[in-house]
Amino acid sequence: MTTGIRSCDACRAALAPDDVFCPVCGRLSRPEVHIPCEHHPDTAAAAVCVVCGRPVCGRCAHAVQGATVCDRPDHDTVHAQWRVVEEVADPFAADLLVRNLSLNGIPAQAFDHKAFAARTGLDERSRVRVYVHAEHLAAATALLDRLEIRMNNGTSLPEHASKKGH
Ligand SMILES: [Zn+2]
Ligand SMILES: [Zn+2]
Ligand SMILES: [Zn+2]
Repeated sequence: MTTGIRSCDACRAALAPDDVFCPVCGRLSRPEVHIPCEHHPDTAAAAVCVVCGRPVCGRCAHAVQGATVCDRPDHDTVHAQWRVVEEVADPFAADLLVRNLSLNGIPAQAFDHKAFAARTGLDERSRVRVYVHAEHLAAATALLDRLEIRMNNGTSLPEHASKKGH
């Protein structure tokens, strides 16, 4: 039985029980939750921008390839042409990835969903998304693997450097 499983009304992606916005298309999945639009504080957000996480109402949102993006001029381009090479929990880790990619000739940019999530109360699950252009995705993935700086593979740090407190 799949009784407890929710899926997104817009894109049918599977939703976790505590997902307020669909992680795939950005659409609000809990209509009872009122999170104000970034530009129209009296209007409830209908979605979050899949690129930057900004909450947007129906007037501010627009659809690109079945997902919601905000009104920032470059975010529709980013969604259409760039790809997420890594998602990390820490903005400093994201900066490190962006710097390493750029130093190796791969333009990259990070979008910190926590910047908006702190206001919307959704920060626990929010991440920083590091994007590269689709044509650079394979090279960027290979580079991060080679540098061993991906977050799920932090072997570049000596063990004694991560001394745990309590
Ligand atoms: Zn969706
Ligand atoms: Zn955006
Ligand atoms: Zn709005």
